This record gives sequence, structure tokens and C-alpha cells, in this order.
Amino acid sequence: MTTQILDAFDIEKDSDSIDIAAKLLREGKTVIFPTETVYGLGANAFDESAVKNIFVAKGRPSDNPLIVHISDVKDIEPLVTEIPDILYTLAEKFWPGALTVILPKSQRIPYITSGGLDTVAIRIPQNEIAREIIKRAGVPIAAPSANLSGSPSPTTFLHCKSDMMGRVDAIINSFDSLVGVESTVLLLDKNEPRILRPGGITYEMLLQYLPNLQIDKGVLNIIADNEKASSPGMKYKHYAPNADCVLVKANTKSFCDFVKKEQQKDKNVYVICFDEDIEFIENNAISYGKVDDHTTQAHNIFAVLRQTNDIENISKIYIHAPSMNDVGLAVYNRLIRSCAFNITEL
Ligand code: AMP
Ligand code: MG
Repeated sequence: MTTQILDAFDIEKDSDSIDIAAKLLREGKTVIFPTETVYGLGANAFDESAVKNIFVAKGRPSDNPLIVHISDVKDIEPLVTEIPDILYTLAEKFWPGALTVILPKSQRIPYITSGGLDTVAIRIPQNEIAREIIKRAGVPIAAPSANLSGSPSPTTFLHCKSDMMGRVDAIINSFDSLVGVESTVLLLDKNEPRILRPGGITYEMLLQYLPNLQIDKGVLNIIADNEKASSPGMKYKHYAPNADCVLVKANTKSFCDFVKKEQQKDKNVYVICFDEDIEFIENNAISYGKVDDHTTQAHNIFAVLRQTNDIENISKIYIHAPSMNDVGLAVYNRLIRSCAFNITEL
């Protein structure tokens, strides 16, 4: 397949690219576009064969549902059978933004989009170019992260190009994703509201409007093969670089002492750590931000994980675990999966 590259950095100056992307989507084609969380691989959410091409391009398991992106709250009505009042409060506070809500789906959403479920995940992205493409396409856009299934999510145009060239109809070349981790997935049903995946909009932010807010067990725990996942995406290997990774929960001193010993035994051991660790670790260390700066950690983490794929002969990567408050919970949730739940506490 030939993949068209479309530059779009500015809504007015790059209006032609936005028009082309919108037209391709309307015609049932696949287009990768920037969002503030990560880049998304989009197709018309109503069009079964277009959505099928998303799963093919990513190599994504067919029971892993897609998030449907819209550009205006009123566009939610045809997609769902019920809208709880709280949705409008949340929309006013957090949309456009990194919050995805799960509601009972209407018949207009084909089962291929919802991964066979009777619910649908919906979000309005904050990125202006994304919203303008969706608006001009005139249809809701199903879009998972634009990476090959299993690898770290793409936060730059180059990440998308490296995974998806020849696999999609077009890729938008735009700015790096601001947030850097995916949206928060929030289940709104008859039970207490529940976070199925932590993301850009934090537990602490949502708690102000949802005093009964719960965090699903699958956010921090491994899901057994015979267990049903509330969010099917949680059960798959995810966000993993090529080398084996171990997540290390420790303070600065214990972490640095530990990895230095490991590096003495094996010079091909690498470290993903905080700025504060770097001065104590002489070799093979990449920082993903300051220890308390979860916003920067979220922004950098996927790019840093991908960067390790370009280094030859890595035997193992030790990753310094972030604390789990605010967006740190989202970063931690991604990293336990990058590490296939291989966690060491010092
Ligand atoms: P991605 O599109 O790669 O950001 O992944 C979307 C995430 O949202 C996955 O973890 C899905 O399992 C989850 N998700 C999407 N739709 C639903 C749904 N209807 N019910 C539960 N989880 C969902
Ligand atoms: Mg993904």
C-alpha cells in the first residue's frame, strides 16, 4: 500500500492537508493523525471494512475495542443508547481532552468497532488538527494508538512512520504529542464509576466530580488467562521495547546502587531513570524526567522506550518506577506492562 504523507502543523495554512485527510476518512481509508495523548490510527467508526483495516494495520486482536473520536459533544447522541447526566458535567470540565467515557452503544456502532462489546468508548481530542479532521470528515473516527500492536505508543510523526509506512493510506506529519500517554478510560454504568485505564485526566481530577470513583483491579494487577478483563486492552502484552525490562521500585540511592552492581556484572545492562539518578550512574542511562515531574515523565516515556530499540546488544533494561499519584499512575500502569509485570521492590 502507498502511504501518503500530509504535513499539518497549522489549521489555516495546512487546510488542504486537513481536507485530504478528511476526504480519505470519509471514503473508508485509514489515516494516522496527531492527538494530544498519542498519535491515532483513524478510520470511519461506522464503516466495518474501514475499521477492519485498522486491526490489520496494527496486528491488533479483534476483541480489543477502539475509542471513537468526535469533535463536538452533541455528536455523542447517535452513538449511544443512554447518556447519564454526569457525562455533561465531565464533558464541560474535561472535553476536549484526555478522557474517554464508556457508555452503552447504539446500533450505529458496528461490533467490529466495539470489539464485540455492547458498550462504546468515546472521546473528544484536544488537538485542534485532530478535531478539525474529524469535523470535516463528518463521521465519528475510530482510532487506537498508531503503533504496531504490542510496541510503545507513538508520540511523534517519526514513530508512526517507522511502524506504519506502507500499512495505512496516509500519515499526518505534525507536532509531537503533548501529554504522551493515552486517555483515561472511564466506565460509566449502573455501578460506581470506574477507571479502566489511567491517563491524561487523573484520578485526583475526576474525584472532584465523581466522589465514588473506583480504580479497576486490572489497572495495577496482572489479569489471569481465565479472567475477564473489564477493558480488553489490559490483558495484552503492551508498550514493550525489544529488550527485556524490569521495573524497580526504590529510592534514588538504592536504585543507583542496585543498577551499578548489575552493570558491573554485565556491561550491556541499560537504565531508564530520573534526572536525579543520572549523576550516580556512569553508563547506559537515559532519563525520562525529574523524579517528581510526572507530566514530563508521561511526555517522554514512550519515546525513551522506543529509543532503546536502536541500541545494539542490550541485555536488560532496569526502569526506575514513578510514584503513583496524579499522571504518575498512568506512567506506572504503562511501565508494568512494558516490563510484563516483572517488578522488583528494593
Ligand atoms: P487504544 O485505542 O490503543 O488507546 O486502546 C483503547 C483502550 O480502551 C483499550 O485498553 C480498550 O480495551 C479500551 N476500551 C475501548 N472500548 C472499550 C469498551 N467498550 N469497554 C472497555 N474498554 C474499552
Ligand atoms: Mg494502544
